[in-house]
Parts: sequence; structure tokens; C-alpha cells
Amino acid sequence: MGEPNKDMYRRKNEEQGAPSNLVNLASVLQDWEVHVVEERDWRTRGNLPFTPEGIIVHHTGGNRIGDAPSLHVVRDTGRPRDDIPPPLCNILLARSGVAHIIAALKVNHAGLGNSQVLEQVRQDVPPIEDVTVLHLSDDMSGNQWFYGIEVQNTGLFDDPYPPVQIEALVRCCAALCSSYGWTSARVIHHREWTSRKSDMSYRGPLRLQVLKQIAAGP
Ligand SMILES: [Zn+2]
Repeated sequence: MGEPNKDMYRRKNEEQGAPSNLVNLASVLQDWEVHVVEERDWRTRGNLPFTPEGIIVHHTGGNRIGDAPSLHVVRDTGRPRDDIPPPLCNILLARSGVAHIIAALKVNHAGLGNSQVLEQVRQDVPPIEDVTVLHLSDDMSGNQWFYGIEVQNTGLFDDPYPPVQIEALVRCCAALCSSYGWTSARVIHHREWTSRKSDMSYRGPLRLQVLKQIAAGP
């Protein structure tokens, strides 16, 4: 997508006092050969200020059947019972590896977590363990500071992640890290942000995979 859109949301961000550091999600991912579906109004969806310093990866939970059964929830409804309005992520990654671009700005995905984790991530130091193990408390909201990628998966042991989906996740993370000049240390699981959460359930060496992808290029 072209410069006018980028300028438009940069301007919107600047008007509200945030740094003009947002990238065009759709074209950045496409440059790394991710198949993208641009959902309606994604460029202006979400809130300000949004000053991303890293990426939090999640699994959606939800239905076991279908390519992106959580699309309606993350894009349209949010979680009204918990008083959490949409959008719930910047990117929803379908089982097929298709990346649905939901929102460019700050979204409701990280919630409360630990400020030491953010400080380390900013210095490209990856978490060494989940927050539960490190016994860190929640003392700040992460939504302003992290992109949120929701990966379509129930989170249950009998719902394996298709390789094509993980490859797309690695490419999404590499694309964002590369355009910001971040190392793969900036990619963390939700469970590495807060002890309240156990996602995502993927146990592969995600940061190592992202590091290799960044080195290999798009
Ligand atoms: Zn999560």
C-alpha cells in the first residue's frame, strides 16, 4: 500500500503526541512473503498512543474447526463479558498461515504485565523464563508497547500448529523486527509478560526461528 495511508496514520499519531514510528503492516508482511488479508479500516483501528517496542504472541483459544474461527471475536465483538472491546490484536494468523490485518494501532491484547520484562526487551534481552517461574508481579499495561499477534489455535495439546502457520508466524515476526531494527529478543509469549496467562502453547524455539529468518532475509 502507498505512502498516503502511511502518512495518514502517522499524522493521526503525531496529533496525539505519539512518535511517528508505525510501519505499514500489510506491505511489511507482504515484503516477507506472508499472505495478507486486509480487514476493513485496519489502518485507523485501535487507540493512541501506540509506541511499539516489541511483539507479544498469543493463541486464540476458541474453535478447533475452521481456518480463522476467532476472526469475528478479535475484529468485531471483543470480549464483552470481560469488558474488553475489539480489536483484540493487530494480526490474526489463520491455520492456513494467512495473516488477517486487524488494526494498525494500540489494541487490547497484552493487559497487565511486568515492567522489567519491557525494560529488558527494549534492550534486546529476551526473557529467560515465563513470568510464573520468575515470580514477577503485574505493574503496568503492555498494550501501548507491544504489537499483538493472535495465532489461531485452541491451546490444547491435541491441536498441533500446522507448519505453514508457524512459518508464517516466524515471517511476521521477522518482518516487524527487521523493519524496526529489532532483534528476535523483542518477540515474547504472553506467558513471558504476565503470570495470568499461559499462551501461546507453542513450545518450539520461536526466537531462534525468527533470528534465523531475519538472517536469511525475506
Ligand atoms: Zn494471550
